[in-house]
Amino acid sequence: MFFKQNNPYRLMTPGPVPLHPDVEKILGEPMIHHRTPEFEACLRRTAEKLKEAFATVQPVFMHASTGTGAMESAIVNTLSPGDEVLCVVSGKFGERWAQMCKIFGLKTTVLNVNWGEAVKLEDLKRELDLHPEIKAVFTQACETSTATVHPIREMASLIKGREHTILIVDAITAVGAMLLEMDDWGLDVVIGGSQKAFMLPAGLSFIALSQKAWGFYEKSKLPKFYWDLKLEMKSLLKGETHFSSVVPLVRALDLSLQFLTSPRKSQTLTRIQNLAQATREAAPFLGFKIYSKSPSPSVTALIVPEGIDSQKLRDHIEKEYNLTLMGGQDQLKGKILRIGHLGYISNEDMAALFEILYQALKDFTTDSAATSTLTRDSLTAAQAALKKYL
Ligand SMILES: *Cc1c(COP(=O)(O)O)cnc(C)c1O
Repeated sequence: MFFKQNNPYRLMTPGPVPLHPDVEKILGEPMIHHRTPEFEACLRRTAEKLKEAFATVQPVFMHASTGTGAMESAIVNTLSPGDEVLCVVSGKFGERWAQMCKIFGLKTTVLNVNWGEAVKLEDLKRELDLHPEIKAVFTQACETSTATVHPIREMASLIKGREHTILIVDAITAVGAMLLEMDDWGLDVVIGGSQKAFMLPAGLSFIALSQKAWGFYEKSKLPKFYWDLKLEMKSLLKGETHFSSVVPLVRALDLSLQFLTSPRKSQTLTRIQNLAQATREAAPFLGFKIYSKSPSPSVTALIVPEGIDSQKLRDHIEKEYNLTLMGGQDQLKGKILRIGHLGYISNEDMAALFEILYQALKDFTTDSAATSTLTRDSLTAAQAALKKYL
């Protein structure tokens, strides 16, 4: 039986994610100064490995911020007040792009996409043709709030040939979690965050600019001080960050990047893909439906059975079974559970996840027809589905 007292705490959200035990150990080490040969070597090493993780030859910069800081950095380093931009909005993080662009005085057009669906290329093309002045297209690679991926490679191919337009990709739940080839695909700005696929606590964000995007930097007039990437470029050449480095996180990054670079990169991506696929196949045996029509490997959104409030289910699971999952926001509040596939997740964690989901649904059974038909056989079938991939 699975009760809180005999369950270890489990974290299965799309950020923050469970940490590798070696990362936990590094985070507990005594502090060193960031201007030391030891740290300089660590920073240079991680900067090199970050390029491989981003699949680019361009420098990848680290800001001491959460992911949203790198989103702001992307805006202020490439654009000027009054510039026309297009934001693909298919969930909460797309809404964040649009909100930020407006705050920075950009002429913002929104391309609304039904939540849970990928943007249609013909819609993107139509907007680009309709607004030839568009300087930047903002999108998520994976819209974490709906667990949905967009066709980034194809979107980039629509934009690549347009000399005056760049593609800015919030890849915070994509880089390190799925195939994303910055240089090969022609992505102009790519953003990552430490508490997602990089398997660290929150506090570092990453950003890389294509050559085309650096051209935009030269013309950009939005004020920048903390986020100024030219300053970071100069410092990086000296093995420094321009402001104080988040030493423990960079040292931990040095380790976690081993999983996102060769020879382990493809293994990591396959593992994440398998966790997602296993979840998508097992969950329907317990009466869940898969929400997204373009499901992501980093996070799965499950529609909970009729008559159950997903927020109450989520809270109950945390309180009684010591497992943290995420619910849905806005139009998805009460409707979905989101399960993260990033970080240090074992097969045993996955088996426990389904055992707990089963028990928790049983706890909610009283008046829901869907869950009253749940039997131990449903759980056995779900566990068997997991085994195909894990
Ligand atoms: C987590 C996340 C962010 C950044 O959120 P922070 O709390 O600022 O780290 C941005 N975009 C997406 C798609 C995310 O998943």
